[in-house]
Amino acid sequence: MNRFDWMRKEISNLKSKGLFTNIRTLSSPQGAWLTVDGKEVLNFCSNNYLGFANHPRLVEAAKNAIDTYGVGPAAVRTIAGTMDLHNQLEERIARFKGAEAAITFQSGFSANLGTIQALVGKNDVIFSDELNHASIIDGCRLSGARIVRYNHCDPNHLELVIKENEDTFKRALIITDGVFSMDGDIAPLDRLHEIADGYDILLAVDDAHGEGVLGKSGRGIVDHFGLHGKVDLEIGTFSKAFGVIGGVVAGNATIVDWLKQRGRPFLFSSAMTVPDVAACVAAIDILEESDEYVQRLWKNADYFKSEMKKNGFDIGNSKTPITPIMLGEAPLAQEMSRELFDNGIFATPIGYPTVPKGKARIRVMISAAHSKHDLDQGLEQFTAAGKKLGVI
Ligand code: PMP
Repeated sequence: MNRFDWMRKEISNLKSKGLFTNIRTLSSPQGAWLTVDGKEVLNFCSNNYLGFANHPRLVEAAKNAIDTYGVGPAAVRTIAGTMDLHNQLEERIARFKGAEAAITFQSGFSANLGTIQALVGKNDVIFSDELNHASIIDGCRLSGARIVRYNHCDPNHLELVIKENEDTFKRALIITDGVFSMDGDIAPLDRLHEIADGYDILLAVDDAHGEGVLGKSGRGIVDHFGLHGKVDLEIGTFSKAFGVIGGVVAGNATIVDWLKQRGRPFLFSSAMTVPDVAACVAAIDILEESDEYVQRLWKNADYFKSEMKKNGFDIGNSKTPITPIMLGEAPLAQEMSRELFDNGIFATPIGYPTVPKGKARIRVMISAAHSKHDLDQGLEQFTAAGKKLGVI
């Protein structure tokens, strides 16, 4: 017996249940086609919604910024000062989203961790959708506030639990994913806003999968619902449609000022790197110029989803380009993924704890970078694998 034994046991347990995650190695940029483990495959699993991860304008902006500023910010902004580049990104993303102000973090995950614990604490309550992302769940736990979960996307249940708890808190926060990352459904933000406003409770939405996807030219979920100025804060990421990395909170200016004083990842962790920031600004430039990429994304997604349905797959309840292929048990999802990979399709299986037990799936991510031919090739292989494994 030694101190690693329990981990070895857990790992072999995961392997026997089909829940062990194998990480494949890429030797190409992100795009519709990838070189994975030395093989050319069609990519159906990254969050590169608009194909920006290797867009020439983002690459050029990153290179130019390195020539001017070097690569790193060298410390946290409150200690070493902030580069004007970071301020520029915050001004641009706030304007893009129609928000009063914005603050950037190193990732969407750290934005959630830092923001939630800065807004609520020990004697407060958080009302959290039961299917919220792990970074929201961890942020809620870190805050020390009491967490009250409400039924998924159910405003009536939210109101019920608020009423039940009304006398027990001074401050409260309602928090929800905007687009739910594993199912692709959309939070009823208009109703959540009415409720939050009625009870004078802070309202936060995680727009990680809405930015670059929903709203006018990808302005996100608040724009989609026309709720500018009404949702207190939109937490987001530059790692998905923007194709880069970094987190953001856009919204009420007082909240942004407060987060600059009390957002722990802002105060105790260095800022986004220079090329990342410059690439994000270039992404906003492109989206402000045209909605061409967002239109292409939706056209591709609508086509793929309708053909998958026609072919007999259960694709859940998605209202966005996220397309879950519901398979049930994790070993089946793993087997299907292997079968697809053997036939040139990269689509990873997703099981517990990322999704509930018994709800394993392959989550297909459609991108504006896919051509019609790519989508047809994907459809052909999904259908062949589905038939072979008795899924359809
Ligand atoms: N929120 C949601 C809803 C997400 O899906 C993700 C990414 N998986 C994050 C936050 C974290 O974003 P990042 O990759 O920037 O840390």
